[in-house]
Amino acid sequence: MRPYFAETDATHDPARRSWVVSANEPDTDFPIQNLPFGVVKGRRAADLPGVGVAIGDQVLDVATAAGMLPDHFADAEVKRAVDACMQPTLNALMALGPGPRRALRHAIGTILDAAHPKAAEHERALAHALVRMDRLDCLVPVRIGDYTDFYASVHHATNVGSMFRPDNPLLPNYKWVPIGYHGRASSIVASGTPVVRPHGQRKGPQDADPVLGASRSLDYECEVGAFVAHGNTLGAAIPLSEAESHVFGLCLVNDWSARDVQSWEYQPLGPFLAKNFATSVSPWVVTSEALAPFRVPLAPRADGDPSPLPYLSDASDASHGGVAMMLEVRLQTTRMREAGHAPHVVSRTRFTHMYWTMAQLVAHHTVNGCNLQPGDLLASGTVSGPTPEERGCLLERTWRGAEPLALPGGETRAFLEDGDVVTLAAWCEAEGARRIGFGTCTGEIVAAR
Ligand code: CA
Repeated sequence: MRPYFAETDATHDPARRSWVVSANEPDTDFPIQNLPFGVVKGRRAADLPGVGVAIGDQVLDVATAAGMLPDHFADAEVKRAVDACMQPTLNALMALGPGPRRALRHAIGTILDAAHPKAAEHERALAHALVRMDRLDCLVPVRIGDYTDFYASVHHATNVGSMFRPDNPLLPNYKWVPIGYHGRASSIVASGTPVVRPHGQRKGPQDADPVLGASRSLDYECEVGAFVAHGNTLGAAIPLSEAESHVFGLCLVNDWSARDVQSWEYQPLGPFLAKNFATSVSPWVVTSEALAPFRVPLAPRADGDPSPLPYLSDASDASHGGVAMMLEVRLQTTRMREAGHAPHVVSRTRFTHMYWTMAQLVAHHTVNGCNLQPGDLLASGTVSGPTPEERGCLLERTWRGAEPLALPGGETRAFLEDGDVVTLAAWCEAEGARRIGFGTCTGEIVAAR
């Protein structure tokens, strides 16, 4: 039996098509089965940001659509969701929890459905509710109060640990405690925002003293982010069995990292200035509902690993707590752009390689009574797999710079250089389901100030 968070319905029917023609392209990230939420803004001075839903290469303005076709938005639950969309962030929609969100998903799927008896009427009515995505700016869709970054890939933790502590790569707590740290929300930026090379204290192993300077080993980290839906009361933990209902949906996160700053500052309290100068998020939040057909178990743990403590263990999480999601990192240098070389795929990995599910991260985060709030961002940590091609950051991919990557055109990279553009992409595929995607999360490195 599939648990509640993996149940599918008519909105997932792979045969369903939209009268928005681009939504039926086989390689679109945004078919009618996806319907992710974001916040977009037109480029005229008077344009205001609004909540939109991606469909093919278009964005549906939720408020305008509800105004044009009120009969489809009359249900009380749908109305609550539409009211929550009348603001420039997704926080209010997130706070409502899964019921109204699911009802709104059904309403939007219905009005975009090519097989609806009144499809032609819907298409005419919604002409002004749809705008081409390339004519809009996508904003950070959420007012993020708190941001927590986990470290949930055992492959990433083992690789990084063996570089920093060759004799002691994986600390003894790793297989018991989902490791994380509190990140910084103020420097979370929208995909496409340039990333200024940060200054920091760095000290190489041969240096007598540290110096302040621009980072020489700037890196990306390919991660998955979960936005919190309704939160919990301070003091009241979210049990694992309810944790999935507190996840609004997933996005892509690039946790830009200055490795030279990090290696000098990280002990004893963990990452600080090496991580908080910029974190990029993708614009479209793929809802938990859209992910239902892609729920699978995580990759099995190694023989001899401890079983999770009871608060981190239940049958539904064990059978469906993972998401069958492929992630890809693409790199394009200035010279590659000038020579017309396409972005080069530097890694491709699977989200099922993680050691902990998102629900386990939610349950662990709140087990001490810590209160999560609507719109909080929980990031997975770098998604790395067992093979070199599946390593989700350059630190691992080039083994701390010792094995530089060869790029089209003859360049090599140990770490990022100014002008490099890093793009994260992800998609979900499963037998009997329509492929859905996450769009991209991109950023260009610009010179230190
Ligand atoms: Ca990270």
